[in-house]
Amino acid sequence: MHKSLLILVFLPFLGFAQVEQGRLTAEKLCSPAFHGRGYVNGGDSLAANFIAEEFTKMGCSFFKNSPFQPFQFKVNTFPNKMACSVNGKALIPGKDFVVDPACPAYQVDSLKVYRISVEELFNGKKLKNKISQAAMSQSKTALGFAFHFSLWKGDTLKKAQELAKVLGESMPIIELVDTKFTWSVSQDQSRAPLLQIQSSAVDASLDEWIFQVKVDAKVVNHTARNIIAYVPAKKKSKNYFVFSAHYDHLGQMGQEAYFPGGNDNASGTALLLEMARYYAKNPAEVNIVFIAFAGEEVGLLGSKYYTENPIFPLKEIQFLFNLDIMGSGEEGATVVNATLFPEQFEVLKSINEKQQYLPKVASRGPAANSDHYFFTQKGVPAFFMYTMGPNKHYHDVYDTYEELSFNKFNGIYQLLIDFEKVICWKR
Ligand SMILES: [Zn+2]
Repeated sequence: MHKSLLILVFLPFLGFAQVEQGRLTAEKLCSPAFHGRGYVNGGDSLAANFIAEEFTKMGCSFFKNSPFQPFQFKVNTFPNKMACSVNGKALIPGKDFVVDPACPAYQVDSLKVYRISVEELFNGKKLKNKISQAAMSQSKTALGFAFHFSLWKGDTLKKAQELAKVLGESMPIIELVDTKFTWSVSQDQSRAPLLQIQSSAVDASLDEWIFQVKVDAKVVNHTARNIIAYVPAKKKSKNYFVFSAHYDHLGQMGQEAYFPGGNDNASGTALLLEMARYYAKNPAEVNIVFIAFAGEEVGLLGSKYYTENPIFPLKEIQFLFNLDIMGSGEEGATVVNATLFPEQFEVLKSINEKQQYLPKVASRGPAANSDHYFFTQKGVPAFFMYTMGPNKHYHDVYDTYEELSFNKFNGIYQLLIDFEKVICWKR
């Protein structure tokens, strides 16, 4: 077959290639072998090696011959067994219970937990009596209090939260929750343990329970690595266009529960790799850089470190496009910093309106909610785009590869390529 005919035949399938390749990447990053790309079993480091290998295979270049930019931070980790049972019933880590990310190590065979009632909230004397009576019959480490915050509103809720905070300074607190867990990462430990339990997993009507708890927690000095690759401009250029996405997630809570981080942000990492694959074959007018950031979930630590230790001058970045939560798109996407850079947003929006890549590109103001933030602070024009759709799993054990529709993956891929061309050719 003639070469041009071949291209015509395969053209309709070209669009499939990115999303199919993206799926493979996301599936891999979400797999148990990567341990939630966090701080237990070397998860984030395994992911970093994988991403660097992918950049290498595509033929990307590296600054100073290395894709890695290491940096350190401390982080609270849950490396070993994690167990909790209530009145003899074992709860499932991540599904029935989570420990607060700042939870210290704690082990108790028989923890008596008393429910705090509304009466006690508003009657200091009654509460004091209850606590001192309970303290007399239990050793202090084997005594805790439970709060069911969702039963309360307004002043009652406020009062309950204040009390939980005070008691939580010195004794275990149990929160009964009726909504999904939203886990995170802490750099420090609190003084006493805090556990959240799904109210449906226990008999929430009781006033007392016996808990058995084993939490192994340890603050460690962790070395993480940003991964930086680039494709040089067709003709020598000192300008850069950057695509970024964080590849880290929350890791594991003990050896039993891991957080796959499918939408957040295996999806964005997968798209980042597809952008690199495109530009490796189609160099642009400017140097195109791809940064996979570490430590985002700990507080944007990778991008903060990068902006403090840039590999080339930040002022040479024409534009940075940060990708986080790229797994859906049925309801379009939102662009953070749209109001800060209206001209560029107009470009993005008009491309999309013409090509109909996404049902909607919504505008949002600045927010410190992903890795674009410190670049914006240093004067680098940047957008952070996230997709919107029915997938609401976020920072929980259900944010899996299987839940990713990748509905608009190809569309966003095309949109980004078109956007880069307009932005970089305009100069
Ligand atoms: Zn994220």
